Amino acid sequence: MAAEPAAEPPPPPLGGVIVPVTPFEQNCSIVWCTATMRGAVVDPGGEIDRILAAAGEAGVTIEKILLTHGHLDHAGGTADLRERLGVPVEGPEREDAFWIDRIEADGARYGMTWCRRFAPDRWLADGDTVTVGTQVLDVLYCPGHTPGHVVFFHRGVRLALVGDVLFQGSIGRTDLPRGDHATLIRSITTKLWPLGDDVTFVPGHGPLSTFGDERATNPYVGDAVLRG
Ligand SMILES: [Zn+2]
Repeated sequence: MAAEPAAEPPPPPLGGVIVPVTPFEQNCSIVWCTATMRGAVVDPGGEIDRILAAAGEAGVTIEKILLTHGHLDHAGGTADLRERLGVPVEGPEREDAFWIDRIEADGARYGMTWCRRFAPDRWLADGDTVTVGTQVLDVLYCPGHTPGHVVFFHRGVRLALVGDVLFQGSIGRTDLPRGDHATLIRSITTKLWPLGDDVTFVPGHGPLSTFGDERATNPYVGDAVLRG
């Protein structure tokens, strides 16, 4: 009797690619629904041509822009990308409006002359969801690095897009206007850790990691460090 051919495993429901942009090497992500090939650009800080080329190469139709927070290296190219594609902007949380309002002045200071302010089509709040094609991501409000920072989490593929909340081996800086260290630590330990050690996260800068690895080794928020 001939053996049955092995069934192909189904593709994961969410695809993604990272495009580091701006002089800050910010991890702009394109995530997409593999059933519809419709996707979102998360944190288009700049270099919009490169982001669009990456989306085209992946065969993805961009349907929206998602923002974790209002800093220029994450949001500086938003106005340009929205104009070019005619897609809505969702996020961050409303408390980051002051960062978006000053984004042109901040851009001028860093030679990032493309930075332009904009008004998001939808401010996000804790417990909201956003859709990408047929896929749903949870919105977690994680202030501390900025007062209006949000994180996007896909339960099925165990992936979080955390912006500048957490990095491999580090955490977001809190010395900028309206940053707060204790608030950031609380966001990480009460919002991110409960999602599970197996969750892989894309930070705003640098390599990917997992929450479990950071709980084991991170010198700022590792379990042993916080226990004192
Ligand atoms: Zn930032």
